[in-house]
Amino acid sequence: MTDVRNVAVLGATGSIGSSTLNVVARHPDRFRVASLAAGRRAEMLDRLAARWNPDYVVLADPLSRVPGGWGGDWRYGPEALTEAAADPAIPIVINALVGFAGLRSTLAALDAGKRLALANKESLVVGGELVLAAAAAGGGELLPIDSEHSAILQCLGNRSADEMHRVILTASGGPFRAWPVERFGGIRPEDALAHPTWSMGEKISVDSATLANKALEVIEAHLLFGLDFDRIEVVVHPASIVHSMVEFRDGSTVSQLGHPTMEIPILYALSAPERLENEFRPFDPVESGPLEFERLRREDFPMFELGVAAGRSGGTAPAVYNAANEVAVEAFLAGRLTFTGIPRLVEVVLSKMPPVPVEGVDHLVNVDAEARSRARESVGTPSSTRGDRIS
Ligand code: NAD
Ligand code: MG
Repeated sequence: MTDVRNVAVLGATGSIGSSTLNVVARHPDRFRVASLAAGRRAEMLDRLAARWNPDYVVLADPLSRVPGGWGGDWRYGPEALTEAAADPAIPIVINALVGFAGLRSTLAALDAGKRLALANKESLVVGGELVLAAAAAGGGELLPIDSEHSAILQCLGNRSADEMHRVILTASGGPFRAWPVERFGGIRPEDALAHPTWSMGEKISVDSATLANKALEVIEAHLLFGLDFDRIEVVVHPASIVHSMVEFRDGSTVSQLGHPTMEIPILYALSAPERLENEFRPFDPVESGPLEFERLRREDFPMFELGVAAGRSGGTAPAVYNAANEVAVEAFLAGRLTFTGIPRLVEVVLSKMPPVPVEGVDHLVNVDAEARSRARESVGTPSSTRGDRIS
């Protein structure tokens, strides 16, 4: 008889949060939802609480609370969120928050020695060595939910990362993969949100359209697998069937394939190294059609090079890149910035804040705030709208 393990689902109302709950629902003998947390979708959180009956729920934005509803233990505010990540009664934390707002939860879960199933790549990219140090010191495990990194982990199996010569991350190319660059100036939010192969939250959808997401993933691979940037390649693969490849030092290349669904990487992050019985749609290689690959149009998607350069610079550069990008994406979605304005804005902020070594989490919080305020100044938006970062 295997123990049922408690799971905290941070970001429960989002796309990854919902997929996580679908996965957990199919394995009640293995996992139990012990806490649920969200930003400000209080009514949805309330419905989820009634369905899952967790020990408590956390709403990061206290002003969004709903009267009545689920009669259990409600907790409020960003501190309650970090406490939920550190709760000793919960050995597995899913961090499916979006953006920098997930950093303290990532650190808290790793400090407390948990298994952290990490969708919130921004926290790893921004926190860098700090996050790796927390995992080492706390004895926690860091398992990626990103499909590409889950693929690498699965290709690696029980081998050491030293045996990898190179990884090849696949990229769908996003909705503008085949658009001529001349049309980029007229891209509207609804065009950017229409991802060809994945259905995801708004922020990552825009990041996939600019290829900022792929730059974040290159940095994520560098940190997770200890690979030099020169050993991380990116190739466009529009069908999103091959989730990434590992070239081993003997010249053999191994890849992981399947339909584009986040449920497989989520389940693997929960169960690894074990593989659990699962319901799934069988993969038919004939039906899936030819596997096509293309070069990345680096010159037309400057967010990719800017992000990888920030990763190579290290220190505070990824935090500046990330914060400026978060503000740029919000402004683009609100119709205050053009699509081509996103990389211009991020480049300006990066040029104003040269990288310095990271001194600790409070230092990163200050760098993040400064980069946001510089980005907002450039875009001409008010710097203190209530809880901008909470959705
Ligand atoms: P989403 O926007 O659908 O959901 C985000 C969740 O975080 C929501 O529950 C929201 O309430 C919560 N949240 C947002 N801001 C918050 C704050 N300040 N405090 C507390 N809670 C807050 O996003 P998503 O698509 O599920 O993505 C989540 C993370 O997973 C992102 O880092 C994304 O890059 C990563 N990811 C997503 C996918 C995908 O398929 N959606 C794939 C790979 C990686
Ligand atoms: Mg990915």
